[in-house]
Amino acid sequence: MCGIVGYIGHREAYPIVIKGLKRLEYRGYDSAGVMLYDGTDLKISKTKGKVSDLEARSQQEITTNGTIGMGHTRWATHGVPNDVNSHPHLSNSGNLAIIHNGIIENYEPLKKELIKRGYTFTSDTDTEVLVNLIEDVQKKDGLKLGKAVQVALNQVVGAYAICVFDKNKPDEIVVARLGSPLAIGVGESEYFIASDASPFIEYTSNAIYLEDEEMAIVRLHKPLKIRKIKDDSLVDPYVQELQMNLEQIEKGGYDHFMLKEIYEQPNVIKDTYRGRLHASTGLIQMAGVEDNLEKFLNADRILIIACGTSWHAGLVAEYIIEEFARIPVEVEYASEFRYRNPIITPKDVVIAISQSGETADTLAAIKLAKEKGAFVFGVCNVVGSSISRETNGGAYTHAGPEIGVASTKAFTTQITVLTMIALRLAKAKGTLSNSDYFRYLQELELIPEKVAEALHSNTISKEIAEIYKDASNCLYLGRGYNFPVALEGALKLKEISYIHAEGYPAAEMKHGPIALIDEKMPVVVIAPKQGHYDKIVSNIQEIKSRSGKIIAIVTKGDVQVKELADHVIEIPETSDALSPLITTIPLQLLSYHIAVLRGCNVDQPRNLAKSVTVE
Ligand code: GLU
Repeated sequence: MCGIVGYIGHREAYPIVIKGLKRLEYRGYDSAGVMLYDGTDLKISKTKGKVSDLEARSQQEITTNGTIGMGHTRWATHGVPNDVNSHPHLSNSGNLAIIHNGIIENYEPLKKELIKRGYTFTSDTDTEVLVNLIEDVQKKDGLKLGKAVQVALNQVVGAYAICVFDKNKPDEIVVARLGSPLAIGVGESEYFIASDASPFIEYTSNAIYLEDEEMAIVRLHKPLKIRKIKDDSLVDPYVQELQMNLEQIEKGGYDHFMLKEIYEQPNVIKDTYRGRLHASTGLIQMAGVEDNLEKFLNADRILIIACGTSWHAGLVAEYIIEEFARIPVEVEYASEFRYRNPIITPKDVVIAISQSGETADTLAAIKLAKEKGAFVFGVCNVVGSSISRETNGGAYTHAGPEIGVASTKAFTTQITVLTMIALRLAKAKGTLSNSDYFRYLQELELIPEKVAEALHSNTISKEIAEIYKDASNCLYLGRGYNFPVALEGALKLKEISYIHAEGYPAAEMKHGPIALIDEKMPVVVIAPKQGHYDKIVSNIQEIKSRSGKIIAIVTKGDVQVKELADHVIEIPETSDALSPLITTIPLQLLSYHIAVLRGCNVDQPRNLAKSVTVE
């Protein structure tokens, strides 16, 4: 995920691009770059850091005039954030410049082929492969830029929103999209291109949103032509009149970043397994795991270290790894682990989980584990973060920037990565039957669709939120794989609505929390059909006999719990082990709506920070 901006028209492009990038910085902010065409040549300036760093550097480095320009604020997926890996990227001849938002899944074989054909690469990005592929097609087949982009994109697997500029054809920018957003602002003799409309809203309110698998040649003084990338058919451009203000645009039309991020989950879970999970062939390919497979397979145990929501993802992983791969797993709070003289040996594999990759306690725990000789594997979201540098190997979650302080998409993408690791280890160890292995792979591939369906619970979650918004306490219960989801549900509610909430393993309720239950106590029970269903029905009966109010998360079509509960939220069916990816969705929505109704600052709850870089 990143932000892209382009301009072609009669104004100076530089200020439009820089201001646009600042507005898109919420989409990614590890590096930035700009390209300008001044009528004779193209000039590029790029740097690791924020758009303000780019602004300072570019003014020193290049003359900033030109009426055609494009800019990028990067959220690295391939190659650490540094100057060289920043966009724009040039083709080998220096004629073509590209900016790209997304991931080219098959960049490795394409790169190998291009190297054979004499191409060289200066960056580690997948994007530089794409721009050289376009150049190769252009040269080989003698094609114009638009056609060459189209032919190249038909060889690409992955996701992209791209802008490509050819200095030999300097009156046009070729744009295309698949899986990443791209809007075109249509002005008087000028066009704006951007990841969302925020960079151009003050210039024009006429926008065309490109659909997946569409491309366009944005040409000066010419009407826009949109084509399907696959079959070259023409599409009628649909020009929308934008009614939104700047802030609404940045939040994608949602009221809060948290809600936007909740709704992003079907897409980002797909991004997480993109290029790694191949259900039809039964392959899971994660470079960090493959390179260190022996370490995992020879481990006496796996120790998971994390804080907060990541710790809950770790608990889910404990259940999944033990079940699938039969390797003993322990999960520790980083802050406890580092101060308690833990027993740890070179036969341990430590998995450290952190969204930001900067969590201070987790970093300290990693250092301690390394000192004791353990192999440390990181699971984080931010490419090039401290944890990704401190660990011996790792896998990114590719969730894109998470702005809401309360973690949502980070949680589900962490579970996705950890599930893939568990499945890969199970395959290597033969601890899952072939049919179960394939079944789980297929199930995992279907999760984005099911998450999208679970998001339909938004309306009912809001209605339930209206009823319980003034509660002072709330209990969350779950069993097995959904016990950690109960903890996570309670944490979400506490964090953003300031209602006291506790998550508990449902059966443990009898050993204490049951004393709290009365007619004022809402109890959220996670009761999907798979896994301990009968037991949880008994727990629900215990709560009912004490007049507690039951909000149950049930599988679509459920009958038994529906009869007992005060409210039910239906979710699609999946296997027990993968259910946390679905059951967590209505809990996120419930917390969100309760917090909104209580007038809380959802995206920046009091006393909390997004990345906890202090002990
Ligand atoms: N995959 C590209 C990279 O790592 C683009 C990432 C992005 O969307 O910012 O550079």
